[in-house]
Amino acid sequence: MSPRFDYPADWLCSTLRAVRDSARILALFLIALMPDPGVVNCGMIFADEFRLPDDRPVLDRDKLESCGLSVLESKHLILVTDAPLAEVQDLPVLADALFVELQRQLGSLKPDLNRRDFQLTGYVIGAKERFEEADVLPPESVVIRHGRHIGYQFWMNNQSSPYYRRHLLLHEFIHCFMMCEHGMADIPPLWYTEGIAECLATHELSEDIKSSRFGILPATLNGFEGWGRIAEIQTNMTELTNKPTQWQSLMSLECVRNPKDLNFASDLQYAQAWALVWLIRNHPELKPHFSPMSKARTRGEFRDVEKSVPAEVWQRLAVLWPLFLASLTEGFEVEHSFPPLNVAASKSPASEKLELQSGKEWQATGVLIKRGATVRLNCMGRYSVHNKPRPWISEPQGITIDYAYSRPLGEITAMLVAPGGSVCSGRIPIGREGSINAEVDSELWLQVNDSANSRSDNSGSASVEIRIQ
Ligand SMILES: [Zn+2]
Repeated sequence: MSPRFDYPADWLCSTLRAVRDSARILALFLIALMPDPGVVNCGMIFADEFRLPDDRPVLDRDKLESCGLSVLESKHLILVTDAPLAEVQDLPVLADALFVELQRQLGSLKPDLNRRDFQLTGYVIGAKERFEEADVLPPESVVIRHGRHIGYQFWMNNQSSPYYRRHLLLHEFIHCFMMCEHGMADIPPLWYTEGIAECLATHELSEDIKSSRFGILPATLNGFEGWGRIAEIQTNMTELTNKPTQWQSLMSLECVRNPKDLNFASDLQYAQAWALVWLIRNHPELKPHFSPMSKARTRGEFRDVEKSVPAEVWQRLAVLWPLFLASLTEGFEVEHSFPPLNVAASKSPASEKLELQSGKEWQATGVLIKRGATVRLNCMGRYSVHNKPRPWISEPQGITIDYAYSRPLGEITAMLVAPGGSVCSGRIPIGREGSINAEVDSELWLQVNDSANSRSDNSGSASVEIRIQ
């Protein structure tokens, strides 16, 4: 799924851009001399208005067939495979549906110099030797762990899970779409290119394939077998929140954006990349700042968008990140469960009171606890944590009819996040009263214990008194 090359340095990108721009000026000049640009096939020379030339080899369909390979074709995908047709027959139509969505969400592609439709050739591989015999595999140096893409072609190993087979194909399709204008070297950082591919490939198949939805967050585990991004986050979040150093080096926003391992090979890196891209594309307060990213194709364009996001938004995002990861679940309710962006913790009052809504996930107290200080919490009130068949009334200690995160539903719960988001605590049960000692300067966040996928049927609030000692 990953190009697995080290990210080129800025100076190299600049040089490549300068060479490319010179070639484009030359191309424009040559094209101006041509009687009909529509029939030009300049190969390496192309104008800024056009995407890269379609360099796919012409398929020898008789040879493919003699090697046991089938060819399925739609407007935007030629699929070559040895998989049973029942497994793959819908894939070209699904790719066409994705193409429409990509044009809508990421911007229309530049046209082809020869006015050809955008089309890819994808190889879904069961028995590799058949593809070797047909001479359609990439060079041996291109290792296919799951999937790989080069130019207008991609190769992927067939998957046993129907969902993940589709997902992987869509993921590689998106890479090709995003890199067909500027190539595979001058690209945004891998967390973004992999994250956007993961994000938009996550789909809900419709009976009418053309109406399938892309860029969704799975509502359930069923139907998304093999994907596992949320499970990967949940497992690591639980394991690492009580190990601050490891958390900082594996899960913090800084680590996701600037990872030490540039190979981008672990499932956790894919999961984080997906989660971050999904967050900035869906959080109502982050979306306006990050939406120009969807049009960025080169590293320079991407860096320009990054720089346009105010520093304080990046700082708040770093704090929101662990809170979001702690809440992430199938069916996450976007209307109720995102932590708010614009509530920096700056006060350390001796005493503070606030109302904690049961219908919201993590809520900012605005309270900063200095390193070594102790915060004492006293909670009271009655609120509901479900409304069917009738409201389930809870008090701050929670109710043991049901559990979330292995704790009673409705229990008042805290989480501490260091101002830069580099360290966070796990979920800290409070109940009616409790105290927490801060090992580093920390923002105090609170919630009524419940899942982020079932906040909408809660109502009422707890009253919480916060005292810092
Ligand atoms: Zn990928």
